[in-house]
Amino acid sequence: SGSDLAAALQRIDGRGYKAYKDIEGRWQMAAQQGGYCLCVDWVQGDPFASPSKCRVVLPAALAALPAQLVCSRTRRTAVCDYLTRSFGAAVAASGGDIRQQSGGWQGEKGGEMSVDKPGQHVLERTSVLILADGSVEARFTVALPARGRSVLGQWASSILLQNLPRYVHQGLQYAQQDRHALQRHVECVEDTQSLRDQLPALGLVSYLGDGSILPRKSGASDEPMAAAEAVPFRSPEALAVTVQLPNRGAVRGLGIRRVRGITLVVGGGFHGKSTVLEAIECGVYNKIPGDGRELIATDPCAVKIRAEDGRRVGSVNISPFLSNLPFGKDTRCFQTPDASGSTSQAANIQEALEVGASTLLIDEDKASGVASNAMTRDARMLELVSGNREPITPFICKLPPLAALGVSCILVIGGSGQYFDVADTVICMDAYVPSDVTAAAQAISARHAGTGDRLPRHETYGDITPRTLVSVHPRPVSAHGRDLRVKTRTLHCIQLDQEGELDLSAVEQLVEVSQTRAIADALMKLRGALAGRGGPWTGRPLTQVLDALEAEMDERGVDALAGRSKPGNLARPRRFELAAAVNRLRTAQLRQ
Ligand code: ADP
Ligand code: MG
Repeated sequence: SGSDLAAALQRIDGRGYKAYKDIEGRWQMAAQQGGYCLCVDWVQGDPFASPSKCRVVLPAALAALPAQLVCSRTRRTAVCDYLTRSFGAAVAASGGDIRQQSGGWQGEKGGEMSVDKPGQHVLERTSVLILADGSVEARFTVALPARGRSVLGQWASSILLQNLPRYVHQGLQYAQQDRHALQRHVECVEDTQSLRDQLPALGLVSYLGDGSILPRKSGASDEPMAAAEAVPFRSPEALAVTVQLPNRGAVRGLGIRRVRGITLVVGGGFHGKSTVLEAIECGVYNKIPGDGRELIATDPCAVKIRAEDGRRVGSVNISPFLSNLPFGKDTRCFQTPDASGSTSQAANIQEALEVGASTLLIDEDKASGVASNAMTRDARMLELVSGNREPITPFICKLPPLAALGVSCILVIGGSGQYFDVADTVICMDAYVPSDVTAAAQAISARHAGTGDRLPRHETYGDITPRTLVSVHPRPVSAHGRDLRVKTRTLHCIQLDQEGELDLSAVEQLVEVSQTRAIADALMKLRGALAGRGGPWTGRPLTQVLDALEAEMDERGVDALAGRSKPGNLARPRRFELAAAVNRLRTAQLRQ
């Protein structure tokens, strides 16, 4: 019980730091102490190590979530996200138990309690879970306090037995929550999810609701731009679609089509083109109320494509875009530690299609900057460098056959009117206001027909060759399993020993470092599963491995990626970002 924990902390007070190991285990608090169960899952080895991992489990009667808030997966995800934020806020409001740090090695240190901190997105997380019996589990870390290297039992006791019960009460019990805010959170997420679920029936790949605030506060902040500065989105009449949402009712907005699905966003520089595409990119995730993008939803299988100079490519068939490379390099099974702009873009497209992308999102700024010859080519250049000497097939030539395969494309185009020849819809951004200029663009295209500026037509797209995942990291697994050290440094960087840094900076649809941590765990899991011959996933196509990971997450949540530990700081990544990590891993082995 709580008193036993108090006694244990008193007993080890002043002893060497390792004595904290004594408090690992489950502590059932009596009703007047909060009535929940505190699990100290793992105690750090010394005051400077990463902080100790703990959980609290509130029985259903104490959590007291109304049935209507937990009646669907979407609602449960939203409630868990909300409780993560309120639990974190309760901890933060008290200053996280950090005392005045008295200096130096011999000084007092530790005491910080922390809960995973979500951003603007509402994702499936491991920070707070609703268990099958309705109990609520919340995970956090505590830097167990020390003076020098000895246990500060009194302080630990005040954190775990005086402050924690208050945070649990304020942050996790339904009765203490702002009911309207929680209800709004849930209904907002449910509406966005419903919008996304309705896209196929509406024949759309993306939807941008009127009144949405697309621009962000700054490059460093994902929060909305201040209302006084931002121009709210408004669909032109010609592209407007009305959709019924379960909570908000009817909304109006711009619908981007699946069939006849080559959509261009054009306009002058700084008129808001990239901002529109970025909003579409993260429309694969749900948002918190007030984000400004709650009414933007995108095909969950939409993938941002860009050129990525210097990335590793392993056994990818990039022949739809490249052939006749100098020195006879094989483009049907292309391999390089250091791809060029155009080969990396081709690999990014092929890898996305391999694992099921059904919409591609491209911003010419990011694509053509390093790979303009991969995007298009003009009449004069076509005259000089003819078909069979140029190894690169411009992306524009592949758009119609891609559309025929059911893959839609949304492109931001600043400089090349050649794209008018293939576009089904052209949206022009003018001072952040979209208009439908399809007819004008097609008239221009027709006028220029026969001027020699036409690119060769490609009837078929070419091959998308599936690959098998042979191994993700060849180093032998030790007896205790987790010998490979992996550290998630930032949103776009995972540090692996032997491998070095895995650079994910071109994987732009990663939105939270908690997703990156989950990907790092997935890499470890894959390594284990592929280690011994005859492991369950050995020799499976990459797509099937991703299917299996997703099925496990559907069943057990994001914990499915984490092995036996119960980390509180993971969020669900999509299959495309998981695949992107595997594809960029130098030590991964993939085979056609
Ligand atoms: P483009 O890609 O057309 O060059 P951007 O999308 O990069 O333009 O936008 C240029 C600037 O305008 C950015 O600083 C962005 O924050 C701002 N901006 C974009 N959309 C809006 C809007 N709806 N209201 C106010 N500012 C916006
Ligand atoms: Mg731009």
